[in-house]
Amino acid sequence: MQEPTGTTAPQEPAGGTPAINRRLFLGGLGAVAATALATGAGAASARAADGTASTASLPTAMQAPSAMAMRTFSRIDGTPVYYWRSDRGSTALRDWQCTEAFYDRLVLWIRDLRELSADGGFGSIDFLVSAGFYVNRSGQHGEGTAMDLDMVHWAGGRRSSPLDGHHAAADLTLRRRYLAVDAVTRRRFRYVLDGWYNADHHDHIHADFAGLPTLCEKGSSSDTRFVQAMCNNFMGAGLAVDGVWGSNTQTWFNRAKTRLSIEGDPHTDLTAWRNMLARISRHGFSDTAI
Ligand SMILES: [Zn+2]
Repeated sequence: MQEPTGTTAPQEPAGGTPAINRRLFLGGLGAVAATALATGAGAASARAADGTASTASLPTAMQAPSAMAMRTFSRIDGTPVYYWRSDRGSTALRDWQCTEAFYDRLVLWIRDLRELSADGGFGSIDFLVSAGFYVNRSGQHGEGTAMDLDMVHWAGGRRSSPLDGHHAAADLTLRRRYLAVDAVTRRRFRYVLDGWYNADHHDHIHADFAGLPTLCEKGSSSDTRFVQAMCNNFMGAGLAVDGVWGSNTQTWFNRAKTRLSIEGDPHTDLTAWRNMLARISRHGFSDTAI
């Protein structure tokens, strides 16, 4: 099956797949139409209610110094991004900040997310919730090249909520859906740190630019834990999620790769890993075993 390709990003080696996927392109047009609807009366009144002081309601540590070249946004490709850490359920628009390059990547990411979740029978994504992008501290957040994802919410009420620890939910459907969002995020960002990575990430998925290109590295605790959790939740592997790529992890990874019909080496071939992640996410959104 053809997987979303999007555009080739400058950080990645040549030889990728720059061709625009037709279905993704059509999805983009649909998104434009959805944006036009969303900016109708309802959204306009929400924006008016929110006023122009929306940055004031974000912690000052999330406001970049004016000397830094940052893009300010309240929506990613038309989809609003809310902040629930101080007011759960709030639909006030916020002025988030990140670099232009990171924003461009967020657009590719949400288009992947829309397309792959739609294939699993989900409706449109009606909002996202984040704990932050630019934050005044060292590291990727301080560079404006990181996102902390708290929730994805689809029209019709389905959601995937790292904020509520869905990686550890009792419901397998929610764990698989979390892994679907996790997988889509790994197609566009590296590193991605999730609920299996460490306790600090029990309530959000962190995504950044520090380790591009997106490959599956056996020496990466983050990548290894994702693979182990994926094998457990989709294949009943029963692996210890310890971040150590041992022989059992290798056996189950090979099995997953075969069952997902992945050609090429996900450890060295960007396209192979992205295709594998897309197919994992399809299983996650459709709640089916691998
Ligand atoms: Zn983070």
